[in-house]
Amino acid sequence: MKRTKIIDLTGEKIGQEVVVKGWVKQFRQNRFLIINDGSTINNIQAVVDHETMDASLLETITTAAAVSVSGQLVESQGRGQSVEVLVNSIEVLGTADPEALQETILQPKRHTLERLREQAHLRFRTNTFGAVFRVRHALAFAVHKYFNDRGYFYLHTPIVTGSDAEGAGEMFRVTTLPFNDTPRDEDGKVDFSEDFFGKETNLTVSGQLEAELGAMALGQVYTFGPTFRAENSNTSRHLAEFWMIEPEVAFNDLNDNMDLGEDFLQYCVNYALEQCKDDLAFLHDREVQAEKQKPQNERNELNLMDRLKFVVDNDFERLTYTQAIDVLLNSKPHKKKKFKYPIEWGVDLQSEHERFLVEKHFKKPVILTDYPAKIKAFYMRLNDADEQGRETVAAMDILFPGVGEIMGGSQREERYDVLKAKCAEAGIPEEEVWWYLDTRKFGTAIHAGFGLGFERLVMFVTGMTNIRDVIPFPRTPKNAEF
Ligand code: ATP
Ligand code: MN
Repeated sequence: MKRTKIIDLTGEKIGQEVVVKGWVKQFRQNRFLIINDGSTINNIQAVVDHETMDASLLETITTAAAVSVSGQLVESQGRGQSVEVLVNSIEVLGTADPEALQETILQPKRHTLERLREQAHLRFRTNTFGAVFRVRHALAFAVHKYFNDRGYFYLHTPIVTGSDAEGAGEMFRVTTLPFNDTPRDEDGKVDFSEDFFGKETNLTVSGQLEAELGAMALGQVYTFGPTFRAENSNTSRHLAEFWMIEPEVAFNDLNDNMDLGEDFLQYCVNYALEQCKDDLAFLHDREVQAEKQKPQNERNELNLMDRLKFVVDNDFERLTYTQAIDVLLNSKPHKKKKFKYPIEWGVDLQSEHERFLVEKHFKKPVILTDYPAKIKAFYMRLNDADEQGRETVAAMDILFPGVGEIMGGSQREERYDVLKAKCAEAGIPEEEVWWYLDTRKFGTAIHAGFGLGFERLVMFVTGMTNIRDVIPFPRTPKNAEF
């Protein structure tokens, strides 16, 4: 008989014979077997009549064992579930050594997230990580659905890249040259012409430059792929390997770009609210319980469901960097010298400033635009200087409660001469980006796009506070186990 997934064991199947396969969560009183198969956060209870069962078989049924049970689906007698299985027969597919189990997180009790990370190969079995990764899947699907439904083309940009225009100094080198005997040129420098690709290559930090080339022909494209940063920032919001979504749209200006970013984020959150009800309800309760352990003044003002609805129901606050600096200069924490980092026009905002704007001042997601040209990338479109002669670019960052910067984008510099000058200013040799500059020579047009860190979105939607807990196998400094 074919197995039925637990998610499909609904009231309509009452009376039918079913086969359920999964992993044992608990086996109580040699009678109540609680099974989960990963299809849903919800377990199924299988009721065993131990009088008629082989005792030696029952002994092998422990927490974490894989089992197959068959029996009749009936209305549940107990509370908390609507249906249960009256067991006819049980097969133990894979036992779990009770002694070895003691050392693992499969042991049914509370474990810290740190401990779960050390056993990342097993943490999928926990309720929390089951929920997180089902939500992660739903969000990934939502990303593709959103763009596909709107006529965008999914463009696969390279993972190995020959350009380091974006993030000089924070890239992972890709090479097949031997460490102990690297070929050298006359000046003693490594001779990359001998390397696999005949030049220096790295893992990509962004697919944007390539996506722009696609947008200049296909009109609207997006990328969704792995991205790498060798930045040694051991924070709860940075990974060395993360997934990024980057739409790029011809003929869009900064306003269109903001509209797209806002609509897209609201769509994704809404999709999760509709498709992941049980998992989000679980994560919500989990957070509520955890909050109770915290001192009053450290508690979240809004709980998970409130935060999600908040994003869906509210327009994002839009203001320029210059206006934000004014808000910050007039703020209480600034006047009381509570900010650690200084505020003045020209500095990059720190997460304490971003969090103040989002969580305390506006109390909703914020889109900041028109940043000083000096602190942003060379490809962002240069605005006309303001009355005081200050130069800004048509950039936009979207800030979310808890996670800070979730998205960064801009209108791109489409003017060949300006772009060429900005490359030179940034110290990027023309022979490295000649292909990028070329698009500005042949039918250039305004265009815009953004990068959304997928894990930051998953963090926001699940309420997990460490980015290591929303990607199956996190890659961070000094950590590539599993
Ligand atoms: P941050 O200031 O948070 O380091 P950034 O300015 O370096 O971000 P961008 O280069 O604009 O970020 O990248 C676009 C998006 O990718 C960011 O808005 C963020 O959501 C995500 N992101 C950037 N760096 C990381 C990282 N190391 N790990 C996970 N996500 C990241
Ligand atoms: Mn960064």
